[in-house]
Amino acid sequence: MNLILLGPPGAGKGTQAKRLEERFGLVQISTGDMLRAEVKAATPIGLEAKAIMERGELVPDAIITAMLAARVQQPDAAKGFILDGFPRTVPQAEALDAMLAEKGLRLDHVIELKVDDAALVARISGRFTCARCGEGYHDQFKPPAVAGVCDKCGGTEFTRRADDKAETVGARLAAYHRQTAPLLPYYAAQGKLRSVDGMADMSAVTAALEEILAPAA
Ligand code: AMP
Repeated sequence: MNLILLGPPGAGKGTQAKRLEERFGLVQISTGDMLRAEVKAATPIGLEAKAIMERGELVPDAIITAMLAARVQQPDAAKGFILDGFPRTVPQAEALDAMLAEKGLRLDHVIELKVDDAALVARISGRFTCARCGEGYHDQFKPPAVAGVCDKCGGTEFTRRADDKAETVGARLAAYHRQTAPLLPYYAAQGKLRSVDGMADMSAVTAALEEILAPAA
């Protein structure tokens, strides 16, 4: 099964993708995570992407689609994937369609997580991640049970994304509305689009996604 989680930054795509990964044996493919790894390793792609990401703008389609094409060739992608943060433009969606057709693969679901812009700013600006295991937290909505200690692995170091600053969030939301929202009619026209209320609590969102992916008999 291959699916796309669509939605603005802060909608919960990464959190839900991780949950679905475990539940359905799929692999999460996050182009944002891949780019952050390139930036950290100071590769040519990372050097080009860094400033663009810090401005909250989108990295050029050609770079992203080449990176994604290489990623879906990896053996772990054969079990099925959840695309998180890709595609983000209509040309990326067209490139994905061509890529899948060439491999004889199909997209089974495209699911939009719907969240109000006002809620997104609060969600994004408080989030942080365990540096050791990647578990996600939020200052207000999901602090660790013991302050400064990861619930999952006991790690004590946390990171915050450089582009989660309040100044950048507005640019990221604008990029979503201008460049990514046109994917909603694109996939609706293919009869693939479903929407889930991303304002509901995390477990309710997971349950709604599971119902789409594995409807109760
Ligand atoms: P994300 O982690 O998905 O919020 O992505 C963080 C940043 O990486 C975005 O604001 C963009 O600058 C860049 N990025 C991630 N995925 C894409 C993509 N599919 N197309 C263009 N830029 C991307």
